[in-house]
Amino acid sequence: MDFEHFFRAELETLRHEGRYRVFADLERKAGRFPTARFHGANGPRDVTVWCSNDYLGMGQHPKVLAAMHEALDGCGAGAGGTRNIGGTNHYHVLLERELADLHGKEAALLFNSGYMSNWAALSTLAARIPGCIVLTDALNHASMIEGIRHSRAEKLIFAHNDPDDLRRKLAALDPARPKLIAFESVYSMDGDVAPIKEFCDIADEFGAMTYVDEVHAVGLYGPRGGGISEREGLTDRLTLIQGTLAKSFGVIGGYITGSAALCDFIRSFASGFIFSSALPPAVAAGAIAAIHHLKDSAIERERQQERVATLRRALDRAGIPHLANPSHIVPVMVGEAKACKAISDELLARFDIYVQPINYPTVPRGTERLRITPSPFHTDAHIEALVAALTAIWTRDGLKRAA
Ligand code: PLP
Repeated sequence: MDFEHFFRAELETLRHEGRYRVFADLERKAGRFPTARFHGANGPRDVTVWCSNDYLGMGQHPKVLAAMHEALDGCGAGAGGTRNIGGTNHYHVLLERELADLHGKEAALLFNSGYMSNWAALSTLAARIPGCIVLTDALNHASMIEGIRHSRAEKLIFAHNDPDDLRRKLAALDPARPKLIAFESVYSMDGDVAPIKEFCDIADEFGAMTYVDEVHAVGLYGPRGGGISEREGLTDRLTLIQGTLAKSFGVIGGYITGSAALCDFIRSFASGFIFSSALPPAVAAGAIAAIHHLKDSAIERERQQERVATLRRALDRAGIPHLANPSHIVPVMVGEAKACKAISDELLARFDIYVQPINYPTVPRGTERLRITPSPFHTDAHIEALVAALTAIWTRDGLKRAA
């Protein structure tokens, strides 16, 4: 086989469909978020980032940076191994305590990313619980899908956020069979929120475990940033709450929280935990500082919600179509891959605005979009500039306006 030819042909297909991914070469500037230095073909220049998942700007928070500097100077760069073989640092232990407390659970277990935590926890649970069947929301994240797939357990996909479909599917199963219901709280692309209480009621009715991914909610919702489950007083009804340290908490890493036995079970059997080196201590220290801060401070959450509302109003005034949802995610709908990429390219080239186009397979074909994430640091001037740029493009190209 001519491997090089094969690779190039596959990439050409992506380019032809308008969904070949180009990474913007950005240099984040601590203290100036959401401004970043963009290293483009014509040299570096400042741009405004409108698609960061550092939702609250905690990646530049002075407390986070100070904690990381202290741990880096105190402990050195890396963890030195897997958790099992010399890699467990005191900061990991403290961070797991902080996370267990955040979600009102007995224990927590750290992973190197949110992806790894979903993949490892779901694959271990579904593979090791004899006869387990997984009921998984149709729009669950790739890391959940891959974890379930890897388990080789039987799975049933229920309609997105649909308690009736979930109940129907559970009712048709052998009551004696162990069941695991897996879903997200805030869905990252549409920004809609799961009916967690209904799911928990149904889980109780059928004796099922509940597994919620709160990746796009931790830090952002709930009085202490414990996510939608905290906001709705449901933490004790969920068997397992999973999250990331890489979005609202501004660093990197993932985790699960649950009972002591559950976390110990995954710690003891998950290959994705056992065989991978631990997070650097400085990262754990930064995460502790971010979580700790957001447990006490609601200013960032409130300011972000206000910025989201301000942007939505400005988009509405301009007639730029965006999905209505109750979260901080503002998807501006384009509906065609090439157009979506062209708008994103033009925003960067002409207006110094960076918003990545979101194409298939991240979203279904025909629902391509610009996924905009306002932070507490986006000013009125940033919002005006974004809406003016979108308006100029929408008007010139005669793009569909919101009703
Ligand atoms: N779960 C969901 C719903 C996500 O959107 C993502 C990533 O964006 C992840 C898990 C993976 O988290 P991480 O980026 O920490 O690997």
